Amino acid sequence: DSVFASVVRAPEDPILGVTVAYNKDPSRVKLNLGVGAYRTEEGKPLVLNVVRKAEQLLVNDKSRVKEYLPIVGLADFNKLSAKLIFGADSPAIKENRVTTVQCLSGTGSLRVGAEFLARHYHQLTIYIPQPTWGNHPKVFTLAGLSVKTYRYYDPATRGLNFQGLLEDLGSAPSGAIVLLHACAHNPTGVDPTLEQWEQIRQLMRSKGLLPFFDSAYQGFASGSLDADAQSVRMFVADGGECLVAQSYAKNMGLYGERVGALSIVCKTEDVASRVESQLKLVIRPMYSSPPIHGASLVATILKDSNMYHEWTLELKAMADRIISMRQQLFDALSARGTPGDWSHIIKQIGMFTFTGLNSEQVAFMTKEYHVYMTSDGRISMAGLSTKTIPHLVDAIHAAVT
Ligand code: PMP
Repeated sequence: DSVFASVVRAPEDPILGVTVAYNKDPSRVKLNLGVGAYRTEEGKPLVLNVVRKAEQLLVNDKSRVKEYLPIVGLADFNKLSAKLIFGADSPAIKENRVTTVQCLSGTGSLRVGAEFLARHYHQLTIYIPQPTWGNHPKVFTLAGLSVKTYRYYDPATRGLNFQGLLEDLGSAPSGAIVLLHACAHNPTGVDPTLEQWEQIRQLMRSKGLLPFFDSAYQGFASGSLDADAQSVRMFVADGGECLVAQSYAKNMGLYGERVGALSIVCKTEDVASRVESQLKLVIRPMYSSPPIHGASLVATILKDSNMYHEWTLELKAMADRIISMRQQLFDALSARGTPGDWSHIIKQIGMFTFTGLNSEQVAFMTKEYHVYMTSDGRISMAGLSTKTIPHLVDAIHAAVT
């Protein structure tokens, strides 16, 4: 008998499990709106031209070797990543108050940041928005933090519950950590306005709450790298401290390469260098050092002004296609006369629309129309195309009538 005979089967991951179910469905009209990965109008995964170019450069450079990177990753990559999120003329960077370490995409950056906080920060409670990306509570709990939620989404308006958010952060214990989605909140697609961000900033700074930004969609939300970093830059501009987890999965299409960075903005250069020394002690026993390939691609693109420019154009094209899918879906539901107010589809931002469909309606759409999505009614706009919108509209119409 196996020594593992008593191991019970674990449930599928609620998000990745949608694709598992989709793959098993033999239907020809099936539609996967579950997973958050960009698809072309033809429904195909996209490797950016600029990434192919960078890959070619790396292959042809015979001086490149496969030695280990340092524990904190590729130095150029770290510098350029900080510049990308904080801005080229960020005082925090100029004053050497930022430590940036290359991590395994957004998830790994969140985990390393959380492990550091669990060891070295005095307040172990982290507030995450309700709802949030399903992996957040697991990452933070396993890192040793205690997870609480703050109100975020208002189902009645399908918008931000700003009053609830202010109340909940206002009554959080002083020093508590607060997870903020830098832009394109997942799963709701609802972001605070800049004025609301400013109020959040004032409240958090007045209570000494520590911001931990999750930036998984910079440039992907609006098409502008700078516009999508505004929330983070407001918090850095006040001279206060914060953490930022960056992912290149979406904005460079490097999903499986697992490229990301954790930055910790500190008050002084001396603190930043001590913090970095401790980050190394977190990383070394976890995975020793990060992989070299993806970070080399990112560094190659970010450091060359022509390639950087080409990237911004390809990024804008992805963002624009998603925005156009929102408009087309909204127009098609309106033309069909589907009951209900669907204006949130064009108001929400980023890769996902939080449709407001409930779990029974989602189950109905999957069973009868082979449309796959998470049970909270979140659909990936990047998985849609002009050709597949009519089928989705049929499914939604049938589900709500
Ligand atoms: N945070 C959020 C809000 C996300 O949506 C995602 C990707 N789904 C991530 C972090 C992490 O993604 P990755 O680890 O692939 O960078």
